[in-house]
Amino acid sequence: MRATRAIYAALEQRPAQRDCIRRTECCQFKLTGRTPMLTAGEALVVSAALRASGRRTLPESADAATGRCPLLNPAGKCIVYEARPFGCRTHFCAAAGGPYTRNEVRDLVRRLEDIDAALGGDGPHALPMAVESALKKI
Ligand code: SF4
Repeated sequence: MRATRAIYAALEQRPAQRDCIRRTECCQFKLTGRTPMLTAGEALVVSAALRASGRRTLPESADAATGRCPLLNPAGKCIVYEARPFGCRTHFCAAAGGPYTRNEVRDLVRRLEDIDAALGGDGPHALPMAVESALKKI
């Protein structure tokens, strides 16, 4: 988890060319057609944050029509924002400047993949499945 958090810190050190305006459109997977994919280290960081908030399970998504992220609370805030996965830190909507290109973050993605391999992972999994699996390990 420490190594994963170090990658998030490295991303934050890069010049910010995007500005999230918290529309939360990107947190509604059926609207975007994309679900964040988490490596094992990212899933552990999210799961630790969930546990720290007193939760033992992933909340149910309240809106099947939009595919709302189960980590988005009814007030429209991410309940694990400080621990949000890499995809949530690099996928911005058009209004916020658009997603990072693979080239901009390739080195950091490789580091996440290395951590995944070191943890015995088999590559990224969709957020709900990745977090449910990690919650069983911590
Ligand atoms: S983890 Fe947080 S930032 Fe990422 S999609 Fe879910 S609610 Fe949005």
